[in-house]
Amino acid sequence: SKESGRNLVRFFDPTLESAVRVRAELEGDLRAAIEHGQLQLYYQPQVAVHGCLTGAEALVRWNHPLRGVVSPADFIPLAEETGLIVQLGQFVLETACRQLAAWAGQPDFADLSIAVNVSARQLRQDDFVHQVQAALTRSGANPVRLKLELTESVLVDNVQEIIEKMLALREIGIGFALDDFGTGYSSLSYLKRLPLDQLKIDQTFVRDVLEDPSDATIARTIVALARALDLGVIAEGVETAAQLDFLREAGCYAYQGYFFSRPLPVVDFEAYVHRRTQR
Ligand code: C2E
Ligand code: CA
Ligand code: CA
Ligand code: CA
Repeated sequence: SKESGRNLVRFFDPTLESAVRVRAELEGDLRAAIEHGQLQLYYQPQVAVHGCLTGAEALVRWNHPLRGVVSPADFIPLAEETGLIVQLGQFVLETACRQLAAWAGQPDFADLSIAVNVSARQLRQDDFVHQVQAALTRSGANPVRLKLELTESVLVDNVQEIIEKMLALREIGIGFALDDFGTGYSSLSYLKRLPLDQLKIDQTFVRDVLEDPSDATIARTIVALARALDLGVIAEGVETAAQLDFLREAGCYAYQGYFFSRPLPVVDFEAYVHRRTQR
């Protein structure tokens, strides 16, 4: 029977059994979560030098009825493996576009951009360009305010196809950032071919930028590279004033991190914006 089979597995390897069970449970739950509106976007401010707020990165959260708020690190990889990332990504895109449209009429919010993470698998869908356009049209959001964050994992295969999609989306004003820059395996030659607007210095380089000379060198080099390629550059994971000072001196003029704010539910993000503009 099913039950004795379970017991057998548990007997041989309890950790494996529970890992497999938790995974299967999570997969079913995630499917339901997408359908039943348990996913929510948090917004983390992106700040320019001199403290001017330029926008936010949308980061998905899952309000699990039993497990509480589940971090994306615990379900994005699962969503990628199972293909659920396509639906999840579509939800994120739709929600972000609706948010942009809602902000468009409000003075303190109208100029803000939203950066949305797009997984390689999502980008490889044949109708990706159409899906993005449809989300913009349905919401009435201004494409110029939408930024898509890609990682170097999009460079694994069919790069020409990816480039064509990016060009089509850029045509209507959408910007592209290369996320987690420096942690992947891409050749620098791709940097020249990809129609990017911004490099995002990964937080692993920012974390020890003051203590670790090689991280400092990498951060400075990414800034120089961005400049040479005529790209913008933003640092993520900025937690301290000292890191901020280092980055500013290195010529990086856009930042994101706990030093400014953690990712916030939209109501809290709006309160954060109001507090800043009232100062
Ligand atoms: P990411 O795109 O690199 O996002 C940055 C992560 O760093 C976020 O984790 C953010 O909360 C965290 N972070 C921001 N500032 C700081 C800081 O100062 N210090 C530290 N230690 N961490 C900071 P989060 O929200 O847990 O997201 C993790 C990853 O999950 C994201 O990494 C992204 O790869 C993925 N993800 C999140 N939302 C989405 C989504 O809507 N679609 C896709 N495809 N992936 C997503
Ligand atoms: Ca990101
Ligand atoms: Ca990142
Ligand atoms: Ca990251």
